[in-house]
Amino acid sequence: MRRSIRKGLVLWLSILLGTVWLISSVGGYCLALKFAGEAFDRELVNSADSVAARVRIKGGRVVVDLPPAAQAILRHDNTDRFYYQVLSSKGERLSGDECLPRPLPSLSNGRPIFNTVRVGGDDLRIVQLSTVAEGLNEEVIIQVAETMLSRRQLSQSILVTIILPQLLMAILGASAVWFGISAGLQPLKQLQAAISARTPGDLSSISDAISPEETYPLVKAINGLLEILREDAQTKQRFIANASHQLRTPLAGLKTYSSLGVKTRTLDEMRNMMEQIDKGLDRTSHLISQLLVLARNDSATRTIATDEMIDLNFVASDVVEQHINQAIRKNIDIGFGPSEKSALITGDRIGIHELVGNLVDNAIKYTPSGGKVIVGLDVSKENVTLDVRDTGCGIPVKDRDRIFERFYRVEGASADGSGLGLAIVRDVANHHGARILVEAGDNGTGSRFKVVFPSAV
Ligand code: ADP
Repeated sequence: MRRSIRKGLVLWLSILLGTVWLISSVGGYCLALKFAGEAFDRELVNSADSVAARVRIKGGRVVVDLPPAAQAILRHDNTDRFYYQVLSSKGERLSGDECLPRPLPSLSNGRPIFNTVRVGGDDLRIVQLSTVAEGLNEEVIIQVAETMLSRRQLSQSILVTIILPQLLMAILGASAVWFGISAGLQPLKQLQAAISARTPGDLSSISDAISPEETYPLVKAINGLLEILREDAQTKQRFIANASHQLRTPLAGLKTYSSLGVKTRTLDEMRNMMEQIDKGLDRTSHLISQLLVLARNDSATRTIATDEMIDLNFVASDVVEQHINQAIRKNIDIGFGPSEKSALITGDRIGIHELVGNLVDNAIKYTPSGGKVIVGLDVSKENVTLDVRDTGCGIPVKDRDRIFERFYRVEGASADGSGLGLAIVRDVANHHGARILVEAGDNGTGSRFKVVFPSAV
């Protein structure tokens, strides 16, 4: 299950809205109840005042002169029952309903005292006040009580009137959040649609004209990636075009020799043609293996590990050994000077072998008979330097930068080649973080290639 931004946002906003809703509903309900309760209590005090105004002394007894009409006014509410009693300051009932409790502990200062008590299964709200009856010197206590049905009904209607609109608002709020988030995520959907609708070969940039601030960096990053892929595809296309062109030349040569071979009459002529075909096949196979190395080193598809510990002394001595016969055939003196300490670098052994091999091969190829090729290694604190120098034709200064381009050959180069050897050298060096320096050889003759690797120790 993928995490949903929309669900996450809605959840958190709903929790927030729900909490606000709960606090405001409960708070509003309590406040409304308080004010309504106070209004009922004031009503009750009015009734108590009316009763107090009707306390008389009749025949030496305290009575409440409440004619039925007055009682009807007091019992104005049909929902609740109304009670009253008059007590002496000592708490003896002088008049009124017997069901009411004894006087409440008085703190009064002349102010009414309220209390809620349960009597005979009903909750009664009681107010108590004291007054001095006409013709009596002493204080009497008046208690007036009523059941609380009206209060309950009011509290229920307050609850409904407060909570329902609040609930409606919460639902509306949550829906607004849901639709707002959906609308907010629309640019992402559009981006997804724009990418899904593409054909595999379409590497053009995505339009960022309508992209909002939040998705703009994403569109920019995708466009950056598309640009790299575009460049990579172009490089590959150029490479394939060049490679096919390069392969066509030796294949055309082979075709010419084989056609001529068919027409030869003598065994000598036939042998001559076969030798040409053999050389042509060697060149073609060398070209193909170089193309394969380049494809293997290609930065976009590269999967080669470059963390092997390699001693360049061993690689270089191996390569020199492999080229000894080639050097002898050309009467070239080839020498190898290893470093005193191990020349340790980390990298890809096969790639490094290719690099040294191409430099040594070129040095022999472009050095005329009787010349010299020297392969050396130098180890410093930070670097391991491979040094290949020869006494050959040398490389004109103007060509020294370009010789590393794929298929580039110096005009009038003195030996056969495809222009791929140094491109391989550059690729491998780049992958190993190495620098390449090209200079003239000893005493200004020939060439000298230095490849400076970061040391592994
Ligand atoms: P090629 O297959 O032509 O040798 P490279 O990429 O190896 O391709 O070399 C590119 C060009 O650089 C060569 O055509 C050659 O003219 C020049 N070059 C490379 N190495 C040497 C060298 N040691 N001495 C003189 N010229 C060289």
